[in-house]
Amino acid sequence: MINHENNASLQKALSPFLENCKSVGFVPTMGALHKGHISLVEQACNENDCVVVSIFVNPTQFNKAQDLEKYPRTLESDLKLLKSVKGNVFVFSPNVSELYENNITSKKYNFSGIENEMEGKHREGHFDGVGTVLNLLFRMVKPNKAYLGEKDFQQLEVVKKLVEIEKLPVDIIGCSIVREKSGLAMSSRNKRLNEDQLKEAALIFKTLTEVQQNFDVLNFSQLNKLVENTFDKNQFLELEYFEIANSKTLKTESNNSPNTSYRAFIAVFVDGVRLIDNIALN
Ligand code: AMP
Repeated sequence: MINHENNASLQKALSPFLENCKSVGFVPTMGALHKGHISLVEQACNENDCVVVSIFVNPTQFNKAQDLEKYPRTLESDLKLLKSVKGNVFVFSPNVSELYENNITSKKYNFSGIENEMEGKHREGHFDGVGTVLNLLFRMVKPNKAYLGEKDFQQLEVVKKLVEIEKLPVDIIGCSIVREKSGLAMSSRNKRLNEDQLKEAALIFKTLTEVQQNFDVLNFSQLNKLVENTFDKNQFLELEYFEIANSKTLKTESNNSPNTSYRAFIAVFVDGVRLIDNIALN
């Protein structure tokens, strides 16, 4: 498996597929790959003739320089993991100038307001950065379908809007969250946690499950309190936000209206490492 560092080399490798009207699946990632990423690649391989996996730590989506700096970079083991997937997988790991040329800035987007909720409130400019890099990548890779995880549910909804705004001919496929045995959502950032912290972090999904189980029994204010109390009692985890939101608009809601789909979203710090998760409530 060859790792393509520039688009010309990637396009050359893809050309035999494109000439025969074969379908191209695309899995954009920031590397430090785990089984969650691999599940996306496997689904893409099952549904397409060939699959491009990009590995690119995107500077414009980080609002804290330190977070960008500390983001794990593990290209060699990523390539090893991708080799184990059956299918025509092409790796694209451009450097910053290959994608951005000399202009490392974000385009300003209006994603109908969903970019201002939750992650948008806590990570200023984050979704402009995500939209900018995916617009560049989609135009280079030209996939038929792109696979994104529900782990970043708000990002998934933003990307659906992005392809409408940019009129990109790509289907966006949402894929289920892959979890550790403890329930903790797999994440590249988990690599920054030690064994004890990983054990503590299991409380995130345990709490989301408790909210889901009590969704018909408690009102939203009681559910919010339940989560706050749970994290107040834990000295290792710091709750940044917990919100029950409309699954379509991603706006926080305070009452359970009929015929509405809800999801709970959470962000928690474990010794400075920021983890997010979410769950469908009904
Ligand atoms: P990242 O490398 O964190 O930018 O993630 C790349 C893609 O993998 C995104 O679409 C994520 O939502 C998805 N992803 C990350 N973790 C998981 C997981 N645990 N389960 C499913 N998809 C995931």
